Amino acid sequence: MSEWIPVYQAANSLEAHTLKGALEVAGIEVCLQGEALAGALGELPMNAVEVTLLIHPRDLERSRLILEKYRRGVRDSWRCGHCGECNAGSFETCWRCGHEPGTGA
Ligand SMILES: [Zn+2]
Repeated sequence: MSEWIPVYQAANSLEAHTLKGALEVAGIEVCLQGEALAGALGELPMNAVEVTLLIHPRDLERSRLILEKYRRGVRDSWRCGHCGECNAGSFETCWRCGHEPGTGA
């Protein structure tokens, strides 16, 4: 019988499915835990329930790499320390002045 281990706790069902898709594209089998509970409760909106992603131990290293890449891609927006402009999380440098985040003014 296959063993499942938790690799990531998604904040909601949408994030869980996005990550599940990303892992499955890489050939990693994923099981979602928590969604069934959300369905059973019925009253709760889907985005109010945390969903745990389960994978096989042999896929742990690769899964972590993929999840790490994903999390870097969706980081929060940041404010430029140089000109004060607000930048989307996907920008590596300030779109207005080219300043890098986290390096001070
Ligand atoms: Zn700037």
